[in-house]
Amino acid sequence: MEKILIVDDSRLQAAQLKSILEEEYDITIAQTAEDGLRLASIGNFSLILLDVIMPGMDGFTLLKRLQEEVIVQSVPVILITSLTDEESEQRGLTLGAVDYITKPFRPLIVKARVDTHIKLYKYRKQVEHQSRTDQLTGVANRWQHDRYSILKWKEAARLHVPFSICMFDIDRFKAFNDTFGHPAGDKVIISVSKIIDSHLQRTTDFLARYGGEEFVAFLMGDPSEKAFAHLQTIRKAVENSHIPHAPAVADWVTISIGGVTVIPQMNESYQSVLKVADNMLYEAKSSGRNRVIWMDENKKQLFEK
Ligand code: GH3
Ligand code: MG
Ligand code: MG
Repeated sequence: MEKILIVDDSRLQAAQLKSILEEEYDITIAQTAEDGLRLASIGNFSLILLDVIMPGMDGFTLLKRLQEEVIVQSVPVILITSLTDEESEQRGLTLGAVDYITKPFRPLIVKARVDTHIKLYKYRKQVEHQSRTDQLTGVANRWQHDRYSILKWKEAARLHVPFSICMFDIDRFKAFNDTFGHPAGDKVIISVSKIIDSHLQRTTDFLARYGGEEFVAFLMGDPSEKAFAHLQTIRKAVENSHIPHAPAVADWVTISIGGVTVIPQMNESYQSVLKVADNMLYEAKSSGRNRVIWMDENKKQLFEK
């Protein structure tokens, strides 16, 4: 059930709106703009119905504040008000309200407008989700990686915490495709992504499909020995899941991993550290595959075997 926040100082008005909508939506009521602001940022709402004239902070001010908050700025706001003049309506719409309903309102019209905006919001969320997601595996796509990595890199630099980047690549995968065909190859890419993903479940972990049979991940907070050990666990998990490889090449599908842990510096770019992880991957490949090679905080290389 989608959640709607009603911000209205009049209990009667709020109760009336609630009675129109509660059959289909999960309704929360705030009686002051301050409460509305607080609830909006924690409540995961799909729509906010906002009264304009309230004691203390008014609806216009609250609307402006909501537009400034990253968490709620995309949540649609409908203004419901007794201000019927053109100027107020224009002001509300200019500030970013998606709709403007004047009192006394007609229940069926309110319901129809709310339904429309909820539908649009859900659709927009779905499109946003798809644009961030790799269609084959369901993990983040490269575009999302490029965006999100910059944000998280800056955050780690600010907090001065260890940041690890690693690249994964399926070993001799061309031979797999040549033997079993592309659709079977796709299934392996999905299985491998699931195994990796199941080991990167902390809220600070991030995994994306970087290209065809390559993945990239970053982890925050762990020193290099811990990150290196964890990535070895992931490598072994892929090997031990015993996905049959092309017989001419190997018994089971395996992956190679290159990684690096650094304490990010403000003047250092994420891309330059990603390049180090890529170099480590290259070394893992050239030294025999199915292994992890890591570069620690002191630029010392760690070898798995
Ligand atoms: P290496 O161990 O050096 O990584 O060998 P490799 O054969 O995996 O390396 P290479 O990069 O030469 O080939 C990657 C192959 O991965 C090419 C292609 O057959 C396969 N591949 C890339 N993207 C996809 C995809 O989306 N689906 C499938 N099924 N195969 C893909
Ligand atoms: Mg490759
Ligand atoms: Mg490969």
